[in-house]
Amino acid sequence: MFLEGKRALVTGSTSGIGLAIARALHGEGAQVVLNGFGDEGEIATLREELGGAAHFGADLTDVSEVEEMMADAGEIDILVNNAGVQHVSPVEDFPIDKWNLVIALNLTAAFHTTRLAVPAMKAKGWGRIINTASAHSKVASPFKSAYNASKHGIAGFTKTIALELAEHGVTANCISPGYVWTRLIEGQIPDTMKARGLSREEVINDVLLVKQATKKFVQPEEVGALAAFLCRDEAQNVNGANWSVDGGWTAE
Ligand code: NAD
Repeated sequence: MFLEGKRALVTGSTSGIGLAIARALHGEGAQVVLNGFGDEGEIATLREELGGAAHFGADLTDVSEVEEMMADAGEIDILVNNAGVQHVSPVEDFPIDKWNLVIALNLTAAFHTTRLAVPAMKAKGWGRIINTASAHSKVASPFKSAYNASKHGIAGFTKTIALELAEHGVTANCISPGYVWTRLIEGQIPDTMKARGLSREEVINDVLLVKQATKKFVQPEEVGALAAFLCRDEAQNVNGANWSVDGGWTAE
């Protein structure tokens, strides 16, 4: 249990990839702090499963809520910026509020949590920052202008903080999954059907899995296992990297 005594905040950890990361870090002994929306009863069950984990329902698109969460969450050793949303639309019709939401959550929120977590990490001389980016931090797909911009942005942000923190025992890396079957993917199918004029099956096989060379969805647990590895002392020189977990998608 190499993470005993470490405190890990995972944003967007009430479902999907964030929950799998929280489970993986808890499995290695970390005290986990959850964030995200959801049914109160389901969140209570998750908190219990994760050893009495704290939960903050902060809306990370609101900087004052991020600041309040970071002040109340205690000193964080491992920060996983994972919360994210998607919106699918041709650029000329892209709703301005959706653009602002995607950038605020997928990119700007990570800046705020990071700037607030870094002083304690520097003081301790140890820290891990892991950002859930995406294959869309490396390549683009049409109709996802805000998402692709936010994910390319988080990749650049990660490289920058990796350089700034390198001599303080703090690493910063991205994990970039291909398609993982979560609510985020389920939710974008209707808009993709509309934007591309396709059926549900065509969206799954001809859009989602077409570039994923394995033709399989990534499992959230696979991302969780990689996050746990990045927290090991053996990973102290893995810094500023952008790890693909995409079945070969971005190898092409
Ligand atoms: P998900 O919808 O299952 O989880 C999103 C999480 O973010 C939930 O806990 C939700 O409550 C939380 N959240 C949403 N809005 C929030 C807000 N305003 N403030 C705080 N929390 C908020 O989605 P997921 O697929 O697990 O996505 C997690 C991350 O993985 C995202 O950054 C996403 O872009 C990225 N990602 C997903 C895939 C995929 O195929 N599912 C692929 C690559 C990258």
